[in-house]
Amino acid sequence: MAEHHTTTEAGAPAPSDTDSLTVGPDGPILLQDHYLLEQMAMFNRERTPERQPHAKGGGAFGHLEVTADVSAYTRAAVFAPGVKTEMLARFSTVAGERGSPDTWRDVRGFALKFYTSEGNFDIVGNNTPVFFFRDPMKFQHFIRSQKRLVASNLRDHHMQWDFWTLSPESAHQVTYLMGDRGLPRSWRHMNGYGSHTYSWSNAAGEIFWVKYHFISDQGVENLSQEDGERLAGSDADYHQRDLYDAIERGDHPSWAVKVQIMPFEDAKTYRLNPFDLTKVWPHADYPLIDVGRFTLDRNVADYHNEIEQAAFEPSNTVPGTGLSPDKMLLARGFSYADAHRARIGTNYNQLPVNAPKTDVHTYSKDGKMRFRNASDPVYAPNSVGGPVAESARAAEVRWHADGDMVRAAYTLRDDDDDFGQAGTLVRHVFDEEQRKRLAANIIGHVSAGVREPVLSRVFEYWHNVDEDLGRDVEAGVRANLA
Ligand code: NDP
Repeated sequence: MAEHHTTTEAGAPAPSDTDSLTVGPDGPILLQDHYLLEQMAMFNRERTPERQPHAKGGGAFGHLEVTADVSAYTRAAVFAPGVKTEMLARFSTVAGERGSPDTWRDVRGFALKFYTSEGNFDIVGNNTPVFFFRDPMKFQHFIRSQKRLVASNLRDHHMQWDFWTLSPESAHQVTYLMGDRGLPRSWRHMNGYGSHTYSWSNAAGEIFWVKYHFISDQGVENLSQEDGERLAGSDADYHQRDLYDAIERGDHPSWAVKVQIMPFEDAKTYRLNPFDLTKVWPHADYPLIDVGRFTLDRNVADYHNEIEQAAFEPSNTVPGTGLSPDKMLLARGFSYADAHRARIGTNYNQLPVNAPKTDVHTYSKDGKMRFRNASDPVYAPNSVGGPVAESARAAEVRWHADGDMVRAAYTLRDDDDDFGQAGTLVRHVFDEEQRKRLAANIIGHVSAGVREPVLSRVFEYWHNVDEDLGRDVEAGVRANLA
């Protein structure tokens, strides 16, 4: 005999698991079969809208342990020596829908939420240190160009390359994407990057610019284009399964947490715009500094509750951490929380996976599906001793800005260009075999549907990245199309 009765959503014993209420065994169903109606209604409402983008993903819980001393740069409790903090990670593809294959070539999302003693701190990065462009005005257009055509609902390489070649600042990221790392072997075998420049501030109030790096202890391993395509057809959830199974068998993946630190004043005169998301800070200029390590050791118990409803947002900063003048980051500071309010609901921060482990003292109240009780007073200032803000935080994010209101690109610095770092990646980081695979991946991708006038721009784009690569891409594509 079962330990529990099935119940209705209101907790009363259900009348039957198998038979609906009818007039006689062969007669019509009766409207008063509330349990049947409830079953159908709940089922019809199971899906929340999928994320737009980053719809397909998975993740796990774990902890961050700080092993070094970075207190000279940040006063954040989460980064204090020896501190251990619970966390959640979610990995994803960008363009595919919720059921799409894990092994399509794409950038991977690398989103981390730390439940710190000072509130939630999120780093919502990718498995690449850069991005396709540097002004958020382009984001919506970019994602649409990577998704589906209006009429046929098919993905389309022509529109992808149309957007990329008209946005030459994408060259660095597209080179990374078309290289080996555009198809990771698993989520465990990829590095993560905060990508943006963020800020840190120490106990003395000094500000530093910071870039986060998460280096896989499993090593970086990738799939060949052929294996990726085969798996996309035979095992669409290959990466999801890999992470879940590894954690179930006690093989807990971990990443070394490192940062690059730039003194506040350096940013004003550095040869590259340090807030340009299409650029890295070369290691030779700003070496990696150890912080600690995070380990994923617990699978989620309910995918919908703990991954589908997980809400990561770069705007979740804690004392000692902050944003920067990176225009893309500033836009994300709005758009992520807005996406969660639209997709999950106004009170998404009250769901257990999103709720901080700290007490919440906010003056906001009400709204759909709120279940944490508010209490008086519900306004500030007040004369009854309600919570007051931490004034030290007001001084944290400060940089000087003065000028006319304009719509203009970032001011160029000496070494700012669209193709330089992409060329460095091709010539100085990739070896001969990697360069061959890069060319083959580009040729295969472009040969599948790209036509004039985009085609000529594709050849020019790769000639600008690297002359030899441009020549090989053009010859390979022309041979395929002949
Ligand atoms: P470095 O020689 O110091 O660093 C090159 C870095 O490239 C490596 O440390 C590694 O970073 C990463 N890398 C290694 N193999 C690959 C690969 N197959 N595909 C992509 N990245 C790889 O030079 P710089 O710091 O001057 O950077 C040179 C180029 O390297 C950049 O233009 C950028 O494209 C790329 N890169 C730079 C990073 C940075 O933050 N400086 C980070 C990642 C790539 P990791 O240990 O992070 O894997």
